Amino acid sequence: MGPQPREGILGIAPYVGGESKAVGQNRTINLSFNEGAFGVPPGARAAYAAVAGELHRYPDGGARELRRAIGARFGLDPVQIVCGAGSDDLIYQLCLAYGGPGTELVMSRHGFSVYEIAGIYAGCRVIKTPERQLTADVDAMLAAVSPATRLVFLANPNNPTGSMLPQREVERLRAGLPPDVLLVLDAAYAEYVDRPDFDAGTQLVDAGDNTVMTRTFSKIFGLGGVRLGWCYAPPGIVDVLNRVRGPFNVSLAAQAAGIAALAEPGWIEAGRAHNTHHRGWLAAELERSGIRVWPSEGNFILADFGTIEQAGAAHGAMAARGVIVRMMAGYGLPHCLRITIGTAEECAMVADILSAFMSAHA
Ligand SMILES: *Cc1c(COP(=O)(O)O)cnc(C)c1O
Repeated sequence: MGPQPREGILGIAPYVGGESKAVGQNRTINLSFNEGAFGVPPGARAAYAAVAGELHRYPDGGARELRRAIGARFGLDPVQIVCGAGSDDLIYQLCLAYGGPGTELVMSRHGFSVYEIAGIYAGCRVIKTPERQLTADVDAMLAAVSPATRLVFLANPNNPTGSMLPQREVERLRAGLPPDVLLVLDAAYAEYVDRPDFDAGTQLVDAGDNTVMTRTFSKIFGLGGVRLGWCYAPPGIVDVLNRVRGPFNVSLAAQAAGIAALAEPGWIEAGRAHNTHHRGWLAAELERSGIRVWPSEGNFILADFGTIEQAGAAHGAMAARGVIVRMMAGYGLPHCLRITIGTAEECAMVADILSAFMSAHA
């Protein structure tokens, strides 16, 4: 018998990503990754090209300039920021550092699937708690906590459901957890939220030593391809992450592109305004066609077709026109499709295709 991985590793179901190309289509519109609607910020594209001649150099392992830029943009102390190769990188490091065999990780039933993968990899027992209306239920999460619980993950807003917990509910979650349980608030979609009762996580990070907020450049900043994320954490957790992370975990090109993306004038504001408008428009159009749409605070909507067959047929109807959206069977929502909010034209195309589809499949 050849080398065998640790116990549990072969029980991990590989992450199911979006498809990147529709079969037989020369032009695909990819609405399956929640990538920002506007592509790469122009300044980031230029900054990326400008470092091409420097790629023989190792990056700054401390990502100092990038952390300074993130801190300035979001009003945070750069000393409390750690960068990663995507926020997934930081999620893995947190699970490996704070979880492990004999520990438990709590997440909600339709929480982001990377928590489960990283948790099992670290050796944790992963406990998924029931939701209400596809929204994390704080009472259920607190009820699942045992002396073995070391980590609680909450994506807020959540992918793939789009649901969001108001700040007072997140505070109630933190207050109900033992102080030695690490709460990770994954705010990958924070920049899209325009509700006053939302905090991405900074308040709870600042309020103690046991909460971390993770963020990403993959969504509104349009840089999923360079792999760049960051977290804001209390000093003790920053210290741990800086011991365990890869010493050069963020590439030179990612650091350059990230700094430039942060400096792009009006980028976040334009992305958020576009998203709020078109998300509302597309949801209303689909509902008019008879499709249930769950409320979303992210740059995507979850469309509920009622049955697996109907969702599959709708997916097929879109693929036939070169539009790729995300199937949700891996999340236990096989009757739903997750659709990223793209450009105005892309939203109109989705609305047209699904309107025709619903007329034909009523
Ligand atoms: C997209 C996404 C991320 C970001 O992952 P990266 O590794 O930074 O690309 C993290 N959490 C959630 C909930 C997401 O949807």
